Amino acid sequence: MAYTSLTPLIEEGVLDEVLEGLGFLHANDHCRRNCTHCPAFGDTTPVQMTPFATLTRLAHDVGEAFRDRGITAQRSIVSWRISDPLDYHVRDGRTTRTTFDVARIWREHLGQGLYLVTNGSEGKRFARTALRDVAAAPEVVSQVKLTVTPCDQGWGSERYLHSIAEDIATLAPLWDLGSTRMEDPSGLRFRINLKSTRDRREEALEFMAQALELAGLRPGAAEKAMADPRRISAKDIYDLGSYVGDSPVVNAISIKGDNGKRFKSTADTRTHHQYGIYPDGGVRVIDMYEFKVYEATGESGAPLRVDLRSAA
Ligand code: SF4
Repeated sequence: MAYTSLTPLIEEGVLDEVLEGLGFLHANDHCRRNCTHCPAFGDTTPVQMTPFATLTRLAHDVGEAFRDRGITAQRSIVSWRISDPLDYHVRDGRTTRTTFDVARIWREHLGQGLYLVTNGSEGKRFARTALRDVAAAPEVVSQVKLTVTPCDQGWGSERYLHSIAEDIATLAPLWDLGSTRMEDPSGLRFRINLKSTRDRREEALEFMAQALELAGLRPGAAEKAMADPRRISAKDIYDLGSYVGDSPVVNAISIKGDNGKRFKSTADTRTHHQYGIYPDGGVRVIDMYEFKVYEATGESGAPLRVDLRSAA
């Protein structure tokens, strides 16, 4: 048994349970992009990134533990939660590792492509490179979703328009491939989620048409995309809360119950509680319906952790 980074979970008697419920192995956590519809709105914590060697070791150990214990992953394991996967970039010796490298190790060690949901590259060089690398080796991702929204801080600027258009141009070839994400077997490898409140839907659709034109797609591709919800899906905005309280988005749909707690059941697509391994080595429970994270404890009552030293 060589998966030493997970030894503390074996000692606490919870490894099987964590593996069965694992939904997140964080390459990065936190976000300062400040989209107004996001639970990260108002978060000023620097983005935390797991060193690439540590992440590789963890992915290797998790994959080995799955095989050794005869457990099959029941869901896509993603590399971020309230963060943007395209923001991952770390030095590793003489190279910079990006989310493309994260996707590679997911394919190699976890046996699944990485599910990537991003608000775009923002024109950053490392993020643009990551997207081009993904487009050239699309087997490393199970599905890529690009969120386009008036809630992005860049909305209304030429810079935002051009960067989204460039990202679409890079990812458009993935529209020709099927999703390999187990939660969406009939979807396509690429989807744009156009997220707006209903009163801003027209404005969002106009932006989308402009971005598609600027992307310079092959003839007919833009019309086809606009007409096919598997390619471009218009979505509502829910009040998921934020670091500073309720969502600041005007007309966001409330999901608060009578008890004042948020609860958005997504039983068709998500298990209610999932485990996440965080960049600080903590293993926590994520309530996927209430959008909250809780400390997880083992038999001894101590907070659960993996051993990052053996993963370094
Ligand atoms: S929606 Fe994504 S990119 Fe925007 S603040 Fe939230 S985590 Fe960051």
